[in-house]
Amino acid sequence: MTAVVDRTTEALLARAERVIPHGVSAAGRDVYRDVVVRAQGAYLWNAAGRRFVDHLLSYGPIVLGHADPRVNAAVAESAARVDLTWVGPQAGEVELAETIVGLVPSAQKVAFVNTGTDALQHALHVARAATGRERVLKFHGHYHGWAGELGVGANFDVAPGAAPPPDAPNSGGAASDVADRTIVVDWNDAAAVREVFAAHGRELAAVFTEPYLHSYTNAAPAPGFLELLRELTARHGAVLVFDEVKTGFRHHLGGYQAIAGVTPDLTALGKALGNGWTIAALAGRADLMDLLGSAVTMDGSYYANPYAVAAARRTIELLADGGIARLDRLGARLREGLTRAITDTGVTATVTGIGSGWIVNWRAEAPVTFRQAVDADLDRAEAFRRAMLDAGVLLPPYVLTDNRICVAFTDDDVDLTVDAARRAFAAVA
Ligand code: PLP
Repeated sequence: MTAVVDRTTEALLARAERVIPHGVSAAGRDVYRDVVVRAQGAYLWNAAGRRFVDHLLSYGPIVLGHADPRVNAAVAESAARVDLTWVGPQAGEVELAETIVGLVPSAQKVAFVNTGTDALQHALHVARAATGRERVLKFHGHYHGWAGELGVGANFDVAPGAAPPPDAPNSGGAASDVADRTIVVDWNDAAAVREVFAAHGRELAAVFTEPYLHSYTNAAPAPGFLELLRELTARHGAVLVFDEVKTGFRHHLGGYQAIAGVTPDLTALGKALGNGWTIAALAGRADLMDLLGSAVTMDGSYYANPYAVAAARRTIELLADGGIARLDRLGARLREGLTRAITDTGVTATVTGIGSGWIVNWRAEAPVTFRQAVDADLDRAEAFRRAMLDAGVLLPPYVLTDNRICVAFTDDDVDLTVDAARRAFAAVA
């Protein structure tokens, strides 16, 4: 993660290489090469005691702050009282479901799972069982988890200028015909969507989209685009699924659908829902959700576990109690400061984002499609990321991935980030 590497870090990294593939279980391989020993609020500390302001925030789950004492107290209280029981619904699970039904427009019923990938795979099975069809339409570069037909057309190991093909599985080991059932077109391309429906409308089980784009860059849907998806799916009997794994509980307690005013059939939620505790959810129309546990298998040893449920209930309370408003205020301050620094230093870049999200796009015009996002000065993007790291500001390892802040950020953390960016812009200009 930084040039400051002490002996403890070196020893731990060497041990990690011996017992974990490439030394780490989740994303971030071969990029940071550091060991985080403490995380609190907006900060991480490495083994050498160096502090970093964290804009990765675990790719999104940390919405209040690392190790939030109020959330952790709720988990401890729950753990002292109830464990995995599996004899019926837990009281907290019922209350959390009622809360989400009250908040998210599409949520008539909710089921709790562990990860966003779980929620989206269940959504796919529900859509297939409901329609009797196999194929799905998704958008180039939209990440919907690592599995199956949804794990297509969103590989982020990109070389500058070369977007991975839309019709390729993201991962080796995927079944060779998996991409045959996935149709991938550019996001916001209404004409392409219309063509797909004209040719394959009766074969489509579902359309999956992030309603506001976070997978690469940050971009809003074109005016009328979500409405078009809503209209075409309804007309052709396909299921509309919003992947709100990144947007949910971050920009609005009702998800981006509450901002956009477009209600999908199913919604995948996760990440910010539990402030880092392992919980995700599938929500949606009651008739579709009722297929779970009947026509569609939905089993997970740790689904709706009471620790994560307790974390989610407290997280939602704290987000409702001024948390989201604070994210919006600080995020706007950050994006304004970065935009000013870009103008002042004369680098060719644009800042996009909403609420707590932000990204510097290294091209003159903000991208919308994956191809445009990759057609950018990714070498400068990487130099910027490294310069920020040297200044004590941690950004995601993949330069196309967006950054975010959490409620624990202060105005000073925002200003420190903007100052570091101003120096980094000047250095890479
Ligand atoms: N959908 C989106 C938009 C995501 O960003 C992610 C994860 O980054 C997922 C789905 C998958 O969620 P998980 O990592 O919890 O499986």
